[in-house]
Amino acid sequence: MLFGKKPGYDPDYDLKLEESLAENKYPAEKMAAARAAEHTSLCAQVCTPEVWDKYKDVVSSGPAKWTLARAINTGVMYPDSFVGCHAGDRESYDDFKDFFYPVIEKYHTGFSMKEGSPPQGTPSERMDPARITVDLSDSAKGKIASTRIRIARNLSMFPLNPGGSRESREQVAGLMAKVYARIPADSDLAGEFFLHTDISEAKRQELIDDHFLFRGKDRMQAASGYHQHWPHGRGVYLNRAKTFINWVNEGDHLRIISMEMGGDVKAVFERLSAGAKVIEEGVKAITGIDEAFMMHPKFGAVTCCPSNIGTGMRGSVHIMVPKLIKTIGFEAIDRLCRDRNCQARGTTGEHSEVLDRIDVSNWRRIGLPEYELVEDMIRCANFLADEEDKL
Ligand code: ADP
Ligand code: MG
Repeated sequence: MLFGKKPGYDPDYDLKLEESLAENKYPAEKMAAARAAEHTSLCAQVCTPEVWDKYKDVVSSGPAKWTLARAINTGVMYPDSFVGCHAGDRESYDDFKDFFYPVIEKYHTGFSMKEGSPPQGTPSERMDPARITVDLSDSAKGKIASTRIRIARNLSMFPLNPGGSRESREQVAGLMAKVYARIPADSDLAGEFFLHTDISEAKRQELIDDHFLFRGKDRMQAASGYHQHWPHGRGVYLNRAKTFINWVNEGDHLRIISMEMGGDVKAVFERLSAGAKVIEEGVKAITGIDEAFMMHPKFGAVTCCPSNIGTGMRGSVHIMVPKLIKTIGFEAIDRLCRDRNCQARGTTGEHSEVLDRIDVSNWRRIGLPEYELVEDMIRCANFLADEEDKL
C-alpha cells in the first residue's frame, strides 16, 4: 500500500514558494539583506521594490501564465545563487522586461537588449570546427581528462519547464522519442532513449557517475520549478559510443551534448554541430513547425535561465591542475578564468567539490558565434596549463 505516495515520489523535488512570494508579497527584508551582502544575486540586484510593484500582478502572455513571484523564487530562497531567476515561457522575457533585460545585460556584459541581435549566420557556419583558429597547447592536451560541449534548447511548441506541467513534460519526451527513432541505425549518432520512469535507480546512478546524466535533487533547481513532477518526462538519449547525449527535461527541454575522453575539442564540436542539426530537423519533420527551437529576435535561443540564452552553449574541458588548486585555490582560479571570459566549476557539475581537476568553460554565451566561445575555452585551458607548469 503506497498511502497516496506516487511511485518515485520524493519531496525534495517539490516546488516550495518562499512565504512572502506565496502570498504575492515582496520579500522586502530578504531582498534588502541580499542587496547588502557581498555576493548579490542578479535577481536581488534587479528586483527592487519598484520593479516588483510594476509587475506583481502581471501574468505572462504565453502558455505558462508566468508571474514575477515564480520567476524570482530561487533567488529569494537562496541568496547565494548567482542569477536566481527563471522564465516560464518565451513571452516572460519581454512581458517582464524591466526585470529580465537588466538581468540579461548584467550577466552578458557588453550585450545590449536595445541593440542586440541574435547569433548571425546559419548554425552550421557558427558551429564549423574549421573556423576555430587556436589549438590546445601540448601541455594543456596532456592535462585534459575529457571534453564536453553542450547547447541548451527548448521546443517552441511547449512552455518552458518551470512553467510547464506533467503533461507538457511528457509531450516533450514523447516527441523526442519520435525524433530519436528517426536517426538511421547506421549513423554514429544512433542509440537509445531511456526514460527515468523506466530505468532502475542503479542504472540512473551509474549514468550520473559517468557524467552522462543530470543529478536531480538540486535545491536551486527545485525552487525554480525545474524538478516539478519528477521523474515524469525526464530522460536521456545516448548514442552507442556515449559521445552524443541528450538530456530531456532536466531544466531546459533539451541539452544537446557531445563529449569524449581527451582533448579533441574540434571533434567534439563537429559532432555537436551534426547532432544539433539532426535533432532540429527531426523536430521540424515531425511537427511541421519550421522554427522548431524557441528563439527570441534579440538574443537567439531561449532558455529557462537567463545565463544560457543566446547560443545556449557551454564548452568545457576537465583539466588536471592539482598544484594550482593546492596553491591558489578554486576561487582564485575562477577569477583568472573570469578575466578570460571563462569560468571554473567542480568536475561533478555546477556547485560541486573541487579535488585535483577543474571544469573550465566559456562564460559568454551571447553575441558571438559558437566557435569563438570554444576559442575562449581553449585559450583559458592553455593559460591554466601554463600556470600549473610554473609551479
Ligand atoms: P551543464 O552546464 O551542462 O548544466 P553541469 O556543470 O551541471 O553542466 O554538469 C553536468 C554534467 O556534465 C556533470 O556530470 C559534469 O561532470 C559533466 N561534465 C561537464 N563538463 C565535462 C567534461 N569536460 N568532461 C566530462 N564531464 C563533464
Ligand atoms: Mg547545469
